[in-house]
Amino acid sequence: MDALPTTLTDRFGRTVDYVRLSVTDRCDFRCVYCMAEDMTFAPKASVLSLEELEQVARAFVALGVRKIRLTGGEPLVRNNVLSLIGKLGALEGLAELALTTNGSQLHRLAPELKQLGVDSINISLDSLNARRFRQLTRHGNLDQVIAGIDSAAAAGFRRVRLNAVILKGRNEDEVTDLVDFARARHIDIAFIEEMPLGLIDEHDRALSMMSSDELRDLLLGHCILEPLGDPSGAAGPARYYRVPGEATKVGFISPHSHNFCHLCNRVRVTAEGRLLLCLGNEHSADLRAVLRAPDYTPQKLRQAIVDAMASKPERHFFDLDDEPQIVRFMNVTGG
Ligand code: SAM
Ligand code: SF4
Repeated sequence: MDALPTTLTDRFGRTVDYVRLSVTDRCDFRCVYCMAEDMTFAPKASVLSLEELEQVARAFVALGVRKIRLTGGEPLVRNNVLSLIGKLGALEGLAELALTTNGSQLHRLAPELKQLGVDSINISLDSLNARRFRQLTRHGNLDQVIAGIDSAAAAGFRRVRLNAVILKGRNEDEVTDLVDFARARHIDIAFIEEMPLGLIDEHDRALSMMSSDELRDLLLGHCILEPLGDPSGAAGPARYYRVPGEATKVGFISPHSHNFCHLCNRVRVTAEGRLLLCLGNEHSADLRAVLRAPDYTPQKLRQAIVDAMASKPERHFFDLDDEPQIVRFMNVTGG
C-alpha cells in the first residue's frame, strides 16, 4: 500500500479538513422541512457503533482533518453519546469539536459537554412562539429548548450559534425577534435557506423558500449589519455580518442564491457509515464495509477515505421546481 498523505485534497485542489459526522438518524423532533411525519429509521445493526464512529474520527484526524461536527438526527439522543464525545474531545490534532443540536437535552447536558471538550455548539431555533415552535418541530417544547440555549450560553463554549430555517408565511415575521434573542444572549445566529433534501408533503418548498437576500432586507430597517467579508473555508458557507459594537454575528447560508461550492472544505459521514462527498450529490463511499471487513485495519480505512476524494464533485445544483434530486432526508445527510 502507498504511503498515506497527511492532508486530504480533491481533484479541484480543495483541501478537506472538516468532517460532519452523523451519530444517529433518529430524532425526538420531526421538523417539517427536515422529515416527514412518519419516518422509517435505519435498523440499529446498520448504524455505526460508538467504537466505529471513533475509528472514523481518528482516521480523518490522521489525514489532517482539524474540525469535526457531531450531528444527526439529534446527536444527544444517541445512547452513551457522551462517551464518544469525551474520546473525541481528547483527540490530539483536532482543533475544534463542534456539535449541532435541536437543544432539547441541553438544559441538562451543556456544562458536561463543555467539560468533555466540545468547543462550539449550533442550536436550531425557528420560532419564539410556543405553538408555532410545536407546529414546525411537530414535537418540540420551546421552554425546554430556551432553557438549553441559556445553559449553553452560560457554559463558556468558544462559540454558540442559533440556526434558523425561515419559511415564507410561517415564521418570516420572527426574523427580527430571533436576531434580538441572539443579541440579548451575546450569541450568533445564522439563517439557512431551505434545501430540497428528502420528499416532504407538508409544504411546497418552491413556495416557502425565503432567500438570504429577502431575509437581510427584512432586517434592514431593524439594525445596522456590517459585512464581515466573504465566506472562507474557516467561516464555512455563511456570509457574516456584525451589529456594530455588539458581539453577535448574523450569518446567512445560501445554498440556492449564493453557490459556495468552490470553497467547500468538508465531507459528511452518515450514521450508517456512508462517506458523502457533497451535500447535494450522491457520490459516496461505504466506510462501514471497510470497518466491518474481517481484514479491517485503520490503515485500510484511511486508504478508503483518501481514495474517495477522487469522486468529490465540483458543485451541487439545487432546483426547487423539480422533484428533489436527493431523496435522502437531512437527518440522514447529517445537517
Ligand atoms: N437535530 C439537530 C438540529 O436540528 O440542529 C442536528 C441535525 S439537523 C439535520 C441540522 C440542521 O439542518 C438544523 O439546523 C436544521 O434546521 C437544518 N435543516 C434540516 N433540514 C433542512 C433543510 N431541508 N434545509 C435546510 N436546513 C435544514
Ligand atoms: Fe430532528 Fe434536527 Fe431534523 Fe429537526 S432538523 S427533525 S431536530 S434532525
